[in-house]
Amino acid sequence: MPDKARVHYIHPIPEAKEYDPFFEATLQFEKAANFLDLDPWIYQRLKYPERELTVHIPITMDDGRAEIFTGFRVQHSTVRGPAKGGIRFSPDASISECKALATWMTWKCAVVDLPFGGGKGAVICDPLKMSENELKKLTKEYTLAIRDIIGPFKDVPAPDMFTNAQTMAWIADAYSQACGYLEPAVVTGKPVHLGGSLGRAMATGTGLFFVLEEALKYLGLNFEGRTVAILGFGNVGSSIAKLVHNAGCRIIAITDIFGGIYSDKGIDPFELEKQVKQTGSVVNFPGTEAIDNDSLIALDCDILIPAATEGQIHRGNAGQVKARIILEGANGPTTTEADSILVDKGVLVCPDILANAGGVTVSYLEWVQDLQRFFLSEEEVTEKLEKKMKKAFQEIIDLMEKHKLPMREAAYVLAVGRVAETLKALGRAA
Ligand code: NAD
Repeated sequence: MPDKARVHYIHPIPEAKEYDPFFEATLQFEKAANFLDLDPWIYQRLKYPERELTVHIPITMDDGRAEIFTGFRVQHSTVRGPAKGGIRFSPDASISECKALATWMTWKCAVVDLPFGGGKGAVICDPLKMSENELKKLTKEYTLAIRDIIGPFKDVPAPDMFTNAQTMAWIADAYSQACGYLEPAVVTGKPVHLGGSLGRAMATGTGLFFVLEEALKYLGLNFEGRTVAILGFGNVGSSIAKLVHNAGCRIIAITDIFGGIYSDKGIDPFELEKQVKQTGSVVNFPGTEAIDNDSLIALDCDILIPAATEGQIHRGNAGQVKARIILEGANGPTTTEADSILVDKGVLVCPDILANAGGVTVSYLEWVQDLQRFFLSEEEVTEKLEKKMKKAFQEIIDLMEKHKLPMREAAYVLAVGRVAETLKALGRAA
């Protein structure tokens, strides 16, 4: 064990006034840095992103108005390979959020041992109020604005909140037109006919499922009859909902940005998905009662799956959690303060950087397939995903048990340790 007294180089971080995702990401990194007794230059290099780009994009809207949108792309690390991470469209996007999400991507790629660093991008906009034509123009102009820093060997974006395979196809097109040839490997999460990978659409949910399978086994439990509550019913929430439903679990509550639904008898996610396709929301699903996020988090259930946005489980509601397992589908859904409360309560928190790494793992397989112009079957993709997820789970459990660490800290020690080793080998000290 490192001598904690030797860790004199960590500068005190000012106390966050309100929820600040980058502050949270830094706190998590600091714990692992302390444990690993990182060299000061490695610590400083990994604490801050390598690059933060802000762009302002003028778009002519459908009604003829000119509007300026602000976008970001942050590259936290390119030490182990190209930066990798999604692009989200959200009215609440900020540079702090992108810095945090880019940092988490570095650790996530390292946890599952992918040859990628971490990046993240966003555009401040309200995609629910924009037409397809406006979104297409915005996506293509944003791509041109960040074009110099992205590319198959520099930084490879992917979908995130309120972006999807269509958004990735637009990015691939804008980038390819500027290159003069089709370059599908510039983004992942594309439509399959454009070089996307089979299995990518469900990959984050499938990866979550493999982690949950191992977590249940670790606790001596199985899927049959387990009760599940899911916060968020987008790509991640709906995929894991269908998988746990098929495995015999009973989903008792689901919320989305508009509200939520509860039924002790269970909710069929396949039927719910049909409604969401028509109305855009889970609200008013027949046979259910209304529920809000905080009540969902406090439900008496076995498995709680946050699959929406950051900071949903916080100091104010963590004490109410009754679930035995929290499976973090979202990035950064649990604040550091909430995490300590949950650890004290004995909840097994399967951390985001492991739990939702299925998406980036299949993105890696997509990137490899695009570079080689050689494509795998869905069975091959799922088999490789399962091996990666279960291997990472076991490595984290081994560290957790060896050093008596909470699962999140063990995951960070594994990830930060891997990136630090690479930096040391490269000898990148100034
Ligand atoms: P999505 O846009 O498809 O879905 C987001 C869902 O969350 C929607 O149902 C939305 O209504 C709901 N939501 C948003 N704000 C909410 C709120 N305040 N309360 C309740 N529900 C709310 O996004 P997604 O791709 O499913 O991503 C969800 C989370 O998973 C994000 O944190 C994202 O970074 C993370 N993630 C996504 C992937 C991926 O492959 N898509 C991979 C890893 C991690």
